[in-house]
Amino acid sequence: MRTLAVLGSTGSIGTQALEVVRAEPDRFEVVALAAASSVEALAAQCHEFRPKVVGIADAANAATLAAAVPPGTEVVAGPEALADLATTADVALNAVVGFAGLQVTIAALGAGKRLALANKESLIAGGPVVAKVRATPGAELVPVDSEHCAIHQCLRTSALATGDDAGPELARLVLTASGGPFRGRTRDELAGVTIADALAHPTWAMGPKVTIDSSTLMNKGLEVIEAHELFGVDFDRIAVVVHPQSIVHSLVEWTDGATIAQLSLPDMRLPIAYALGFPERSAVPVGSIDWASLARLDFEAPDHGAFACLGLAYAAGRIGGTGPAWLNAANEVAVAAFLDGALAWTAIAEVLHDALEGHDATPADSVEAVVDADARARALAHQLVAARADEYLSPSPPAPLRSTL
Ligand code: MG
Repeated sequence: MRTLAVLGSTGSIGTQALEVVRAEPDRFEVVALAAASSVEALAAQCHEFRPKVVGIADAANAATLAAAVPPGTEVVAGPEALADLATTADVALNAVVGFAGLQVTIAALGAGKRLALANKESLIAGGPVVAKVRATPGAELVPVDSEHCAIHQCLRTSALATGDDAGPELARLVLTASGGPFRGRTRDELAGVTIADALAHPTWAMGPKVTIDSSTLMNKGLEVIEAHELFGVDFDRIAVVVHPQSIVHSLVEWTDGATIAQLSLPDMRLPIAYALGFPERSAVPVGSIDWASLARLDFEAPDHGAFACLGLAYAAGRIGGTGPAWLNAANEVAVAAFLDGALAWTAIAEVLHDALEGHDATPADSVEAVVDADARARALAHQLVAARADEYLSPSPPAPLRSTL
């Protein structure tokens, strides 16, 4: 029996992790649950899974939560409480959204625990900081993100690779991208796309921010940076290929020319169960493929001209230090402005290009340095968005875009 702390238990990844536990109750015992602010959902989870401790980041909700959980359940509150809970189990699943997740990552690895990582900011913004705590004896990072989990599975086929090191036989990593809703469109055809167009993802159902990031290929760009941090592979040896069916989750190419890929239907329960149970695989199949009905698998090169965000992510990754944190923060501002009807889709990449030119090469040697870079990048991105919003909004008002929200 392996004990679990599920941090961010009421979100999409958290609830699917609890489905995994429900399917295999003899393998996993939930000893801690935590969420940002969803009291009702969290209390219901406590009644079902009976953790010893439950945490809520928003301390204002602590009393309401305490009254709703089963007697004897300890309630802890505040952002630090979530990080503390990450040290209480064999495995900490970090499904916290945003920067708060970085502290959870540092706490779990610093305590020498297994970290099942679903928080992107930990590696994109805090990569250099996280790299230091990964050296803690016993600390182990297994990615939940489907592409990185696929690569983790592929790397296991080399006797010379370890969880943290792709080994001397690696030629390159190939991350697959669905291509999003605008796959195949030219730069000109993308000029007038609407919020609704961008939110219509063909294969994965996700939140609005990551769905927009999929439409610009920024999501894949950020995943390239994640792969670099996770597996210690330089950017020249990380490729992206567009694969619209989302069946091949990523590939590893070896020095002899052989390629190993991981294939399954798109279902996040598979990578979650893998990360929680590694090195054992789950006995409950999810995502199995019916080969007779799988008609075809397509692959094509990404169009860097139409989807400039992908190249900007490579550029930020190569800058290193706080470069990725800077790009990530600016992207959050630009995407929010697009979703608010204040920025054209094509201007997201323009804002990020200009924002990256304003990066000042600060090293990412502490959490404080990363948080500071994040704040300064946001301020710059707001200025850049405002400058473009005037042009964007002046000839035609934003009403038709807003009505699609
Ligand atoms: Mg992914």
